[in-house]
Amino acid sequence: MALLNGKTALVTGGSRGIGRAIATRLAADGALVAVHYGTNEAAANDTVTAITEVGGHAFTVRAELGVPGDAQTLWSAFNAGLTACGAEPGIDILLNNAGIASSNDLAGTTEAEFDKIFAVNVKAPFFILQQALNQLRDNGRVINISSGTTRIAAPAMITYSLTKGAINTLTFTLAKQLGERGITVNSVVPGIVDVDSNAAWLRDNPEQLAFWGSFSAFNRVGQPADIADVVAFLASDEARWVTGQHLDATGGAHL
Ligand code: NDP
Repeated sequence: MALLNGKTALVTGGSRGIGRAIATRLAADGALVAVHYGTNEAAANDTVTAITEVGGHAFTVRAELGVPGDAQTLWSAFNAGLTACGAEPGIDILLNNAGIASSNDLAGTTEAEFDKIFAVNVKAPFFILQQALNQLRDNGRVINISSGTTRIAAPAMITYSLTKGAINTLTFTLAKQLGERGITVNSVVPGIVDVDSNAAWLRDNPEQLAFWGSFSAFNRVGQPADIADVVAFLASDEARWVTGQHLDATGGAHL
């Protein structure tokens, strides 16, 4: 399948977890993919190697998010990467995927923790998008990774849930603005996903795996590819008439 030949994509947090699966899938579909990371360069290089070994095209982009000037750092690195690849300036598919979680309730959340998670999960995508406006090509795609905690009450993750609620609002608000350029803006809403960073308490813990899996209609937790396949649809031309939506990809959790 090569639906995205000639397209350029950026996946924030594309080095690991869900982002790696998305980057790999978009590259398999033919896109040139910028694999963004913050600190773990080895993971980003591994992702790019996995893509190029099977004939895909990708490069790494380093930028710590949640710090002043993060969006500018990211776009400078992205543009330098495009130049190094000999690719045309511009972007067709922007994946706001990088994010951090927090597992504290209202009483247990410090101001510093609140500010940090909003800086990474909301402020960074906001200004990444602001600086993308002139680079995003017409008929492009913006896809934001949200969370199932936006449609259930999760008091133990209150700040994280608030950030993802903000992402959903950003999604439909921008969809209205960018529609005149044929650009779609959608959120994908995963439930719990089996990623390496969850391994210690989820993958390697059968009781937790069964517990969290039991919320899904399919009686299992999600895999990164379950989310990447939904993203691939939204990134494709087939999804040109879908915008401003929060596409649930929780495996029917809490139905
Ligand atoms: P992982 O922890 O597996 O990977 C996070 C990625 O984001 C890495 O590439 C990491 O790069 C990058 N990243 C994180 N913080 C920063 C930062 N401050 N600056 C730059 N890069 C950063 O994440 P997941 O795959 O689990 O999650 C991806 C998205 O999916 C997130 O938005 C998350 O909220 C959402 N989600 C995840 C669920 C899950 O169960 N896993 C469920 C629902 C939503 P580096 O390693 O270099 O820091």
